Amino acid sequence: MNDRMDLSELKSILDNRRVSAGESVLGLHSHDESFHAASLPDVVVWPRTTEEVSLVIQWAGRHRVPVTAWGAGTSLEGNPIPVRGGIVIDFSEMNQIIAVRAEDFQADVQAGVIYKELNRALACEGLFFPPDPGAAATIGGMIGNNASGIRSVRYGATKDYVMRLTAVLPGGDVIRTGSRARKSSSGYNLPAFFTGSEGTLCIVTEATLKLAGLPANFMAVRATFPTILGATTTVHHIMRSGLAPAAMEFLDANVVHALNQDRGLTLEENPTLLMEFSGFSEQGLREEMTFVEEICRGNGSLAIDKGIGSEERARLWEIRHQTYESIKRCHTGLSPLIMDVAVPLSRYSEMVAFSKNEVRDLKAYLFGHAGDGNLHVHVMDDPQDRKRWMRVEEASRNIVAKALEFEGTCTGEHGVGIGKIRFMNQEHGESLILMKRIKGLLDPDHLFNPGKLF
Ligand SMILES: Cc1cc2nc3c(=O)[nH]c(=O)nc-3n(C[C@H](O)[C@H](O)[C@H](O)COP(=O)(O)OP(=O)(O)OC[C@H]3O[C@@H](n4cnc5c(N)ncnc54)[C@H](O)[C@@H]3O)c2cc1C
Repeated sequence: MNDRMDLSELKSILDNRRVSAGESVLGLHSHDESFHAASLPDVVVWPRTTEEVSLVIQWAGRHRVPVTAWGAGTSLEGNPIPVRGGIVIDFSEMNQIIAVRAEDFQADVQAGVIYKELNRALACEGLFFPPDPGAAATIGGMIGNNASGIRSVRYGATKDYVMRLTAVLPGGDVIRTGSRARKSSSGYNLPAFFTGSEGTLCIVTEATLKLAGLPANFMAVRATFPTILGATTTVHHIMRSGLAPAAMEFLDANVVHALNQDRGLTLEENPTLLMEFSGFSEQGLREEMTFVEEICRGNGSLAIDKGIGSEERARLWEIRHQTYESIKRCHTGLSPLIMDVAVPLSRYSEMVAFSKNEVRDLKAYLFGHAGDGNLHVHVMDDPQDRKRWMRVEEASRNIVAKALEFEGTCTGEHGVGIGKIRFMNQEHGESLILMKRIKGLLDPDHLFNPGKLF
C-alpha cells in the first residue's frame, strides 16, 4: 500500500467494516470478465448513501487518489479495472429500490440495485426495466456502460431509460440532473450525456428510471438456415416488414455446437435466429407468426420451432443466456476476446460475412443482437501466447476497421474500457478532442477511472 493511503480517515467517514485493504477483497476488485490484466486497488469501500460517496471522493481529491466505481464487475472490456490503483467504490450496499411510481412508469433506485432484482420487484406491478444484458449487472454499471442487450431492438438502450440522476462529481460536489417529465427540451441532456461515460466524469448514486408495461403475450421463434446469408437477410426482411420484434438474435453454427456440447442439447447446428414478439392478443401473435414463417421460408429456412406463451419464451432465452458460459466451458484455460461492432442494418450481412472470413483460422463464435446491427465475435485463445494473440488482435482490428468503413462503431454496448481505446481516434476524429476537453474540465486531476476511454 502506498503512503498516500492512511486508511484511518476513510474509516472515520464510513466504518471499519466498510473499508478494506484485505488481500482477497482487493483481488476480487482487480478484474472484470475480460482477458485484460488484473490490477489491484489499494482499498475498497462500501458506502450506503450519496453523502458517504461524496465524503470518500472529497478525501480522494485531497490525497490525489484515483477513484473507480464498481457495480458487479461483469464488464467485458476492462471498464472497472482500477489500472492506477486507488479506491474502488463498491455499490453493493447501495442496493435499495427507493420508490416505484407505477402510475408514472418510474422507479427511483440506488446505483447498486441489480437490474434483474428490480425486474422481479416490478413484475407484480405489470412493469419492467427493458435493457437486458443478461449478466447480474447493476443499474450503476449499466449506466456506466450504456448497456443494452437482447431487447434493445424494440426498447432501446439504458440511456433511453435514465430520466434523472444523482451523481457525485470529482471534488465531491453532488448534482441532481434531469426530471420526472417524460420529455424535456430544457438545456443539455446531462443524464444521457453521463450515460456511457464509464465512471470517468461522475459517479452515479441514484437514478430515476423510466419503465415499460409488461406485454400480455409472447411468441418465441427459433429458425435455422442453410447459410449465414439466409439468416442475416431474414433479419433485414423482418425489420423492413413492419413487424416489431422484441428481440432478434443471430447465432452461427459454432455457437449452436458449443451449446449442444456443453449443455447436452440436440439443436440443429446451422446458422440460427432467435426471435421474440410480444403483443396483446394470442390471435394477433398467431397472425404475425404466419408472416414471420413466410419470411423465414422465403430465405430458405430449414426448420422453425415456435410457440406462444411465457414458457416458450423462457425456453428460447434459456439457450441464449448461456452462450457466453457455454463457449467458455468448451475452452477451459483460454481467455475470451469479444468484439462488439455495430453497423447500419443494411450492412449487417456483409459485416457478418467479413467477420466470419476474418476469423476462419481462430476458435471463433459469431452471435449478437442482429436486429440492432450488433455483432459479437467471441474468440477464445491464450493471451500469453504472443504469436496467437497478435493474430486475434489483428482480426479484431480488421473487423473494427470494416465496421467503421460501414459508418458503424467499435462498440455497440460493452463500452470502451481498456480494449477499445485504440479505436477511439479512428472512430471519433476531431470530436475525440472535445471529449478530452470535457473530461479535463470536469476531472482536471484525472482521478475518476483513469486509463479508460482515452
Ligand atoms: C455473460 C455476459 C453477457 C453480457 N451481455 C451483455 C449484453 O448483452 N449487453 C450489454 O450491454 N452488456 C453485456 N455484458 C456486459 C456487462 O454485463 C454490462 O456492461 C453491464 O452494464 C456491467 O454492469 P456491472 O454492474 O457489472 O458494472 P461494472 O462492470 O462493475 O462497471 C461498468 C462500468 O461502469 C462504471 N460504474 C459502475 N458503477 C457506477 C456508478 N455507480 N456510477 C458511475 N459509473 C459506474 C465502472 O467504473 C465501469 O466503468 C455481458 C457480460 C457478461 C459477463
